[in-house]
Amino acid sequence: MLRRSEAVRAAAAALKMNQITPRVYWTPPFEESDRPVMGAVVGEKGTLIVEAGNSPAHVESFLAALAPLKTSPPVFAAVTHWHWDHVFGGSALPVPMVAHEETAKTVAAMAKLNWRDKALDQRVAEGTEIAFCRDMMKVEFSNAMRGRLEIRSPEIAFTDLMTIDLGDLVVELVHVGGDHSSDSTVVFVPGDGVVFLGDCMYYAIYEDPPYYTTRRLFPLLERLLAFDAQYYLPAHADQPLTRAEMEAWAEELRLIGTTVERFGNNHRAIFRTLRKKGKVVDEDLQENVEWFIAGLGK
Ligand SMILES: [Zn+2]
Repeated sequence: MLRRSEAVRAAAAALKMNQITPRVYWTPPFEESDRPVMGAVVGEKGTLIVEAGNSPAHVESFLAALAPLKTSPPVFAAVTHWHWDHVFGGSALPVPMVAHEETAKTVAAMAKLNWRDKALDQRVAEGTEIAFCRDMMKVEFSNAMRGRLEIRSPEIAFTDLMTIDLGDLVVELVHVGGDHSSDSTVVFVPGDGVVFLGDCMYYAIYEDPPYYTTRRLFPLLERLLAFDAQYYLPAHADQPLTRAEMEAWAEELRLIGTTVERFGNNHRAIFRTLRKKGKVVDEDLQENVEWFIAGLGK
């Protein structure tokens, strides 16, 4: 039987590069160790890498999948937020990392922490790390690998917006925030009409209980839909969303959020209203309802 980290390495060896538009490529996530989508935006003069991966092995397999395309040389890597699965591969990147100033600051602080099992388990017990991330790290890395891990913090930081000129196109890194992580940044590729969402659409995962707030989510949805984009790539989804799918997701979240605001934690009234609006009350929907209820008053 394979050890867990060996299973991860075996899966990573087969990382497949996908193309979505003429200049945008992406590799799929790997749920078993929480590897996110990574991306490449290929300009005439340079290529922008999107995300710094969840381990050096993740980044190496991404670069190996990119190499046969013979793109222009990578010039920068855009980091969407500070969570480990988006930054722990940084030391394997051959280019400077660009991120929101809060991302850079937080990753610099993370670089000083001990990530071996004992310290990690202790932080989970203290409530400063969450069990989900700890468990996923243990799948991605052995204890010894985490002992050797060099966590690299982004060298270039911005506040609201950073543009990167790749020759024939100018990519935008836009700070959008949101419930998931206040430093969340998206990567917009004008012309090709693609938005790398990172995790900005997801709920506040580091909070107990996790939550969504209408106060932060609804303006975010408006902002994301205002991009002249045909495709949206959530960092943990197997497929990019078309604009229509993104609109449908946003509409569902708005409906659930406004219904919870109307009825508070009256589950019966919430589910009755959602059923009336044609929604199937499945596990996903119930989870979303709980997240919005947890976010009431936040
Ligand atoms: Zn995240």
